Amino acid sequence: MLAPHGILRFNHDPVGTRDEMTTLAILTAAGSGSRLGRDLPKALVELDGFPLVLHAARRLAASGVVDSLVVTAPDGLVGVMIDLLADDPYVQIPVQVTDGGPTRQASVAAGLALARQGDDVVLVHDAARPLVPSDLVRRVVGAVRSGHAAVVPGLPVTDTVKQVRPDGDTELVTGTPDRSMLRAVQTPQGFARDLLVRAHRTGAGRAGAEYLAATDDAGLVEALGEPVHMVAGDAAAFKITTERDLWLASLVLQETNA
Ligand code: C5P
Repeated sequence: MLAPHGILRFNHDPVGTRDEMTTLAILTAAGSGSRLGRDLPKALVELDGFPLVLHAARRLAASGVVDSLVVTAPDGLVGVMIDLLADDPYVQIPVQVTDGGPTRQASVAAGLALARQGDDVVLVHDAARPLVPSDLVRRVVGAVRSGHAAVVPGLPVTDTVKQVRPDGDTELVTGTPDRSMLRAVQTPQGFARDLLVRAHRTGAGRAGAEYLAATDDAGLVEALGEPVHMVAGDAAAFKITTERDLWLASLVLQETNA
């Protein structure tokens, strides 16, 4: 049944009717993924015969700690996304699909608007990280449930990172942060739902010509002055951006299926 606003609800009863507290995962899949150079959105690009978004949804569901999913769909593709996810034998949790927004931040906000009363923990995960291990999902949710209201997974960086500014036809190096104190941040990021709602509300208020939409949700929480905690990330949760990443992901899958 197609509800107003292009939202379709399927699979089982809505979890919000249960008494216990539940975890909602927002799966962002509304980006164009133009750097992959395909003529379809990145989330729909296939890896081992299945779209990236389906790999990610299956892994979130397999974690056993996600009670329901909201997937943000690219413009005009809500129906396609529903066809993909409905009745998938490995996604046996309630799923809602909604239109994404013009930025990742707007897409997450659209997903967050569909949270139910009982969803006290919200995960945000990018479909562009299709091979997220279920262990990592459990680690993030566990840290939120143990009392940290904002949790991100991160990995040490191996490259030396420079800060730069434009300088004619080159860039001028303005600093070299201490590498041992830097982390590359992944998804899923996990939040107490109230905090994430407040962070997005404040972030949306700041969005304007001079303000670049946040590339991750923890950044919005940091902007509120609230603490964000980090747990160990996992190399397998790497992000697919280029054709080479897709090739790497298929090698990883071959290795794990062997
Ligand atoms: O572009 P990037 O790879 O950083 O996008 C990260 C994730 O955010 C992707 O899974 C993409 O589909 C999603 N996204 C979205 N809505 C947008 C832009 C990106 O849901 N407007």
